[in-house]
Amino acid sequence: MVDLQKSFVQNMYSVEGKVALVTGATGALGKVGAKAYGYAGAKVFLTGRNAGKLQELVDEFKAEGIECDFFAADPAKEEDVQALIKAVVAKYGRIDILFIAHGFNKPQNILEQSVADWSYIMDADCKSVYIVMKYVSMQMVEQLGGAENVPSGQGGKIVVVTSQRSKRGMAGYTGYCTSKGGADMMIASAACDLSAKYGINVNAICPTVFRSELTEWMFDPESAVYQNFMKREPIGRLAEPSDFVGYVIFLSSNASNYITGAACDCSGGYLVC
Ligand code: NDP
Repeated sequence: MVDLQKSFVQNMYSVEGKVALVTGATGALGKVGAKAYGYAGAKVFLTGRNAGKLQELVDEFKAEGIECDFFAADPAKEEDVQALIKAVVAKYGRIDILFIAHGFNKPQNILEQSVADWSYIMDADCKSVYIVMKYVSMQMVEQLGGAENVPSGQGGKIVVVTSQRSKRGMAGYTGYCTSKGGADMMIASAACDLSAKYGINVNAICPTVFRSELTEWMFDPESAVYQNFMKREPIGRLAEPSDFVGYVIFLSSNASNYITGAACDCSGGYLVC
């Protein structure tokens, strides 16, 4: 017999009252995700490395009635991340949602790139994801107070922004593609560690190009970059921030309780043709 609760359907996208920690909150996608959580009634804890930018963001969010706070931390440094988690727990008592949206790229041909530059990208896009995910998972498990076989989604939600470049190589991208591919495999493996036993869902969103200060130039219909994209964009345009938030809320709410270890396409169909 099908047992579908009306109240579940009516509330399945709710993140109201949840505590969401957002890394890379000062970036384009981090800010959009954080704002979406705030508009949806979550308490939002913002982090990045630049305290001044975070303070500005908190002021902007508070002016809109969003409950939020910040702590500056480098996600690639273990001691920073441990201090960050203490700060979130001191402020809001727990972490329900982790949204990882920090990242960095410096395209360079492998023949010219230094090992130090390659390692920096790997730290920014892969190692730091591991460190944040590890310590937040430990906090989420602690919150369960020893319970195991927790229903899926009830232990927490982890959402990582990787990239469509996790699935395709590109000239100058031996650092970026490798780190993003690594992050996709990381969420798959972390899902195996965390989902059945602790009810923590771990997923990734893989975007192509979203409008931001840095990508605005790609939206010029006259540019070769835009025209090349359009040869492989079934949806017929590049992405706006509003195209992103559906996934953010979906993967952070009960609507996605049966989805884990998934690297979710958010590309307008870029990979299908
Ligand atoms: P932005 O450049 O707008 O923001 C990047 C964020 O990451 C900032 O908050 C920045 O804050 C932080 N950051 C920058 N460098 C580092 C570093 N070395 N170590 C740790 N944190 C760093 O990026 P987007 O918002 O556009 O992108 C967010 C994520 O989405 C990234 O992982 C990116 O690769 C991915 N992505 C974005 C796409 C797009 O079209 N925008 C497409 C595909 C993937 P601070 O410097 O203060 O720490």
